[in-house]
Amino acid sequence: MLSDFALSDEQRFVWETTARFAQERVAPDAARRDHEHRFPFDLVSELAQLGLLGVKVPVDDGGSGADMTSYVLSISEVARACASTAVTMAVSNLVADILSRFASPAQKQRWLVPFLAGKMGPASFALSEPSSGSDAAALRMSAVKDGDAYVLNGSKQWITNGTHASFHLLFARVVDGPGPHPTGSKGITCFIVERGAKGLDAGTEEKKMGLRSSNTAQLHLTDVRVPLANVIGEVGKGYAIALSGLDTGRIGIAAQALGIMEAALAEGVRYAKERKAFGKALSEQQATQFAIADSRCELEQAWLLTLRAAADRDRGAERTAKASSMAKLFATEACGRVVDRMLQIHGGYGYVEDYPIERLYRDARVTRIYEGTSEVQRLVIAREVLTG
Ligand SMILES: Cc1cc2nc3c(=O)[nH]c(=O)nc-3n(C[C@H](O)[C@H](O)[C@H](O)COP(=O)(O)OP(=O)(O)OC[C@H]3O[C@@H](n4cnc5c(N)ncnc54)[C@H](O)[C@@H]3O)c2cc1C
Repeated sequence: MLSDFALSDEQRFVWETTARFAQERVAPDAARRDHEHRFPFDLVSELAQLGLLGVKVPVDDGGSGADMTSYVLSISEVARACASTAVTMAVSNLVADILSRFASPAQKQRWLVPFLAGKMGPASFALSEPSSGSDAAALRMSAVKDGDAYVLNGSKQWITNGTHASFHLLFARVVDGPGPHPTGSKGITCFIVERGAKGLDAGTEEKKMGLRSSNTAQLHLTDVRVPLANVIGEVGKGYAIALSGLDTGRIGIAAQALGIMEAALAEGVRYAKERKAFGKALSEQQATQFAIADSRCELEQAWLLTLRAAADRDRGAERTAKASSMAKLFATEACGRVVDRMLQIHGGYGYVEDYPIERLYRDARVTRIYEGTSEVQRLVIAREVLTG
């Protein structure tokens, strides 16, 4: 499908380099990592060496200086090999993208440049809390100014890379003291909280249905002192920072779904050609052909919406909320249908670990939940259509 697109030399280079890396280095051990719930530290270093932790970050900030389309191509290739590694990569790019746009030169030198050079390990984006996910602006983590620092208290939930992150890009609400606190986006500020900060407990890891070699953890902060120098952007403007990051983050999750779909369809086609029933291969039975045809159509529709959202970004659009949400909504919902059809083609063998479709099925499910659920994407799209 992609060969039909007029990709630039640079986009083709990023795509081919990532595809080679993904098939040679990421794919071979993916099933075992999943089985062992093992985080791919080695792959994070290799992603950094290839410039894949900050694909869109300007070269001057230590990134690859490529465009959003290249980012989509690279995430989809890594996800085709291993969706867990892809989400680790996606969150790293989200953090790097925000730092490159909002951090001061000194902050970039301290965190962004060494992070992208692979000298720090993973990083996290910590917005969700135990009682606020879709309604992220309802976050409760508080930050009270005290001399040369803010003192942070509260918990974060579902934080990808949370246990292993060398630093967390974390959103808390600046307040004057113990409640009543402002509501909505008021006061929300973006901080860097470093690994090992006194009072930071980043140890409680979730046991997940899928993406088992990615890390998802709760963070608990008790009187954590965060220096004033660790505020990213302006105090009180953190929610806008988070939302602008999610615009690109959602395109990244659409790309992750594309990669999972590509892998699932390949597995379904391969199995349908091998397996015989009633005297002929499944691929010769019309019901199987229809499942494959419907899946191919949905995969290509998802590619078009995702590349279109990426192209909007590459043309310089400041915000791409509707296009990003449409890509994420359609690609992730289509992904759910495709993995389901391809598992069905496998019959009973689809339900056991021996075939990759079982892992793809489990990994696909969360794409409809994180970086905004499908319902939240519909709210964003409807708002833009109704007010546009
Ligand atoms: C594996 C994993 C990794 C994650 N990684 C991160 C991360 O790195 N950083 C981070 O900050 N967060 C992360 N998240 C959190 C994720 O973004 C949230 O789970 C998601 O935004 C949904 O929030 P919630 O789970 O609190 O569900 P809720 O917001 O409680 O929603 C529950 C249900 O209600 C629906 N709903 C809510 N409001 C409405 C409405 N107005 N209209 C219609 N339906 C509605 C939702 O769509 C959903 O179906 C991760 C989650 C998972 C599972």
